[in-house]
This record gives sequence, C-alpha cells and structure tokens, in this order.
Amino acid sequence: MTHPEQDDRLKEECGVLGVYVPEQEAARIAFFGLFALQHRGQESAGIAVSDGFRVRMHRDMGLVNQVFTPEVLRSLPGHLAVGHTRYSTTGASVLRNAQPIYCQSLVGEIAVAHNGNLINARELREEMERDGEHFETTSDTEIMARIMVRHMHSGPEVAVREVMRRVRGAYSVTVLTPKVLIGFRDPSGIRPLTAGKLGEGYMVASETCAFGPVGGTPTHELEPGEMVIIDSQGMRFARGHDTEPGGMCLFEFIYFARPDSVMYGTSLYTARERMGQTLAKEHAVEADIVVPVPDSGIPAALGYSRESGIPYREGMMKSRYIHRTFIQPDQRMREMGVRMKLTPLEDHIRGQRVVLVDDSIVRGTTTKQIVKMLFETGAKEVHVRITAPPIKFPCFYGIDMASKGELAAAVMTIPSLCEYLGATTLGYLSIEGAVEAVGRENGRFCLACFNGKYPISIPPDMSKHAFDDPPEVGQMAALANGQLRLID
Ligand code: SF4
Repeated sequence: MTHPEQDDRLKEECGVLGVYVPEQEAARIAFFGLFALQHRGQESAGIAVSDGFRVRMHRDMGLVNQVFTPEVLRSLPGHLAVGHTRYSTTGASVLRNAQPIYCQSLVGEIAVAHNGNLINARELREEMERDGEHFETTSDTEIMARIMVRHMHSGPEVAVREVMRRVRGAYSVTVLTPKVLIGFRDPSGIRPLTAGKLGEGYMVASETCAFGPVGGTPTHELEPGEMVIIDSQGMRFARGHDTEPGGMCLFEFIYFARPDSVMYGTSLYTARERMGQTLAKEHAVEADIVVPVPDSGIPAALGYSRESGIPYREGMMKSRYIHRTFIQPDQRMREMGVRMKLTPLEDHIRGQRVVLVDDSIVRGTTTKQIVKMLFETGAKEVHVRITAPPIKFPCFYGIDMASKGELAAAVMTIPSLCEYLGATTLGYLSIEGAVEAVGRENGRFCLACFNGKYPISIPPDMSKHAFDDPPEVGQMAALANGQLRLID
C-alpha cells in the first residue's frame, strides 16, 4: 500500500557494485562506490567481502554512511567486495531482505547483489522448494543465489548460464565467491551494468558515476545476456544467453540514473538537455521564465530554455538533507507536503508566466502541490512540461509504481489531468522525442510503462494483480466524470 506522504516519485529498486583490488581493502572502496549509487536506493545498504577464503558481510537499514561506520568497515577485511543500495517498501521483514543475499552450501558460499525484478520468482521458488531447497528470505534474489551456489562447482560461467536459463525478468547482478567476482546482465538488458579498471584491479557497477570517486575507469557496458568474470587471472567476458527483445529502461535516461553517468555511450546530462529541447519544440508556449523542479528537472529546463529562448531561472530551493525515512506520516507533516522539501523564490516567481519543467508525473500529487505553491507565490501562469511520456502502465521490471489505478496518466486524459494539477497548460514529451534525445541509433529500449508493450511477458496472475487491483489508500481513482480522486 502506498501513502500520500511518501514521495510521489518512481523508486528505483537498487544499485549494485563489485570490486576486485589485490592487496587493498575492498570494503572501503565499495563504501565510496556505494555513495555514488545512493540515489538508486536509500533504505538499506550492504557490503559483502572476501579475503580469498571466507565471505563476511554487513548490511542494515539506512543510508550508506549510516550503515558503514569506520569500525564496521574495519571488520570487513579482504580484496573482493560486492555492495548494494536498496529501496524497498517499509515493513518488518525489510532487514531480512536487505542485500547482498548470502548463501552457503556444501560446495561453497556466495553473496549476491541484485538490481531488478524477477517475474517468474513465485513459480521458480515453489519448484525449488519442492526439490527440498529451504529459503531464508522473501527476496527473489535468493532464488538466483541458490541456483548459482548449486552450480558453482562447474565454474562461474556454467552457474550464470543456469541462472539465465531459469529466471525471467530484469536483473543486473554482482556476485562474490571467496575467490571470484562476477557480474551479469539479463538477456533483455533492462537494468544497466558496466565493468572497468580500478588501478591494478577491476570494478563492476550499475552506473559509471560510481567509477570516478574511487579512481576507476569504465571500459565496457555489459551487453544484454553478457557476464564478466574477475579473478586472479584478470577480467574476462562471456555470453550467458542470447540477447532477447527489450532494451535499457528509458526511465534510466529520463530520471533514475545520475546525470553524470554514461549509458549507451551517451552522457545522461546531455540526453536530458536534448529532451528539454525537443519538449520545447513539441510544446512551445509564450512565457517569461523556465523553472526546473530541482534537481532532476535542471538539465531539461536548460534545454527547454535554450531551444525556446525563454530565460532559465531557479524558482525554488530544495532542502538537500531531508529524507523520507525522517518524515513521519502524521497529519501535520502531510499537510506541509511539498513545502518541507521545496521553498519558492518569490522574487523570481511573482508576476511571471512560468514554464515548470519536471521529469515525470506518477500520481500527480507532488506536481499539483508545486503548481499551487507557484500560484500562491504570485505566478501569473504555470505551464507544466514533462520530459517523460505519460506513464500509463505499471512496471514489472524493478520500478515501484504499483498498479495502474495509481498512475495519473492512466486514468485521466491530458486535459483533465491538467485541470487536476491546476496548471495553465500541460505538455508531455513524446516517446519518439525521448528516444531521439538519447539517440535512436542506440536502438534498444524498454518502453513498456509508456506503450504497454512488455518485452518480457508478464504472467497472467502478476498482471491481473497490477492491472485490476482496486485503488487503496493513497492511490488515485478515476471518477465517472474523469476527475481524479485520492483515496484517503
Ligand atoms: S516498464 Fe518503464 S520503468 Fe519499467 S523498465 Fe520499462 S521503461 Fe523502465
């Protein structure tokens, strides 16, 4: 169940990394690498290390710097590490499901960190339980961990191929055994994963932005269905599975990934600027200033401004240190809503016709509050421009957007959504415009939440849940008159 006081944002499920650094402390390097991946998950963090003989691990709820004190890092010796940052919904079982997931068998031990979501997890788990496998968590990552640990005696390539043969879904994974670091990416290539050099060693991470802070150099974005094996022999790549339909999640380019990361050879900052330029062509308007929703709307707002010739102005300041785990879901906080995070700059806003640029609308509750705040600050007009196409379908590949009833653009027409937001006009970037901005030559994208074409087919029981669930508290329901109502 979602709550209106939660961020009205899409939530990335995780960031993963792995480091192999002979004669160095891998945990410290993984710690700094995880900092750079903090945006991909802020509810728990974990690092597993090996000194070549034994796997040790620490994970807990909280941000990377809350979970890893200097003492904790000192208790994690070894030159191999995998790390994980996780977003998850709140609940008693969360710590148990924090990652990496550790697994032991008679033939060895491994730790697995996973970004994504398996869509045949339930069926696989039932099958494995019938075969006598005992699970300790409810995480789908444990399924991959148990398949791998069973097959590691035949070599890492065989173990990864067995995972790819059996599981379906989105996964970018890093795996640690006592002596080997492995990374692999699902055959559709939905979540990102890049390998590279790190001094005399090697590194694998969800995003290239994790390399710079630890002195690494990204050298190879893994192909869909490809794996990387790193051990004392060096780094080698191997195919685990043929490439299947699909491609990188378009939302990685629009919003999830950090703007200083590079994917498909394209800087995401540049891609987002181009999205803003295209948005200005597709939805031109007469206005006085272009204002981003900080921070994610900044590159696109700059692009919009450049293309339209309308001056760019900062229109609100973001409180940098507020985090949703600190926000108690009480009524007073709920009423304060977006003002806890954003403060309008009255001098810039008053009397102006504002183009407000943001990356996406999920439920629309946040956008509605920002529009209201700008009008209350004295804006004459507020033209909302969104650099994602309308989100009309739920994601099954690792992004938390729950059921269709929750998605504003799925239950309302653009004019009625504009009215709901209280905006003067509303314009979304087209799917073609977004793809063009990243670079059509790059070709492969998952666009399922925009066009409903799921590259990895969804089991009927899973889709039934997501499409047909009646709205719960905090979700949007479409009324007969086309209005959107928040269920509370
Ligand atoms: S459905 Fe949407 S959010 Fe999910 S992987 Fe595909 S593009 Fe990304």
